[in-house]
Amino acid sequence: MAYTIAQPCVGVKDTACVEVCPVECIHPTKNEGTFASAEQLYIDPNTCIDCGACQAVCPVTAIYPNEQVPDQWKNFIDINANYFKK
Ligand code: SF4
Ligand code: SF4
Repeated sequence: MAYTIAQPCVGVKDTACVEVCPVECIHPTKNEGTFASAEQLYIDPNTCIDCGACQAVCPVTAIYPNEQVPDQWKNFIDINANYFKK
């Protein structure tokens, strides 16, 4: 399993989630060159330990455990995973 960041993060990117993730699997961070051009942030499903800390702090309710991602945003599960295959 893993958590996924969905549509509500687009254009927000406040990085509250990055600051609380214990395994640093949310990218890009503000220190990465791709941060400015990124539409949203993404969770690396292979590193995420399902702690839920990010979900609790997201101001726009963009983060869900994969099995609870709302139907209209299910495609974001692949969008998050694919970001880390580049
Ligand atoms: S659930 Fe935990 S480990 Fe996974 S991205 Fe969120 S804060 Fe990081
Ligand atoms: S806390 Fe929510 S809105 Fe902020 S960067 Fe993370 S997913 Fe995006």
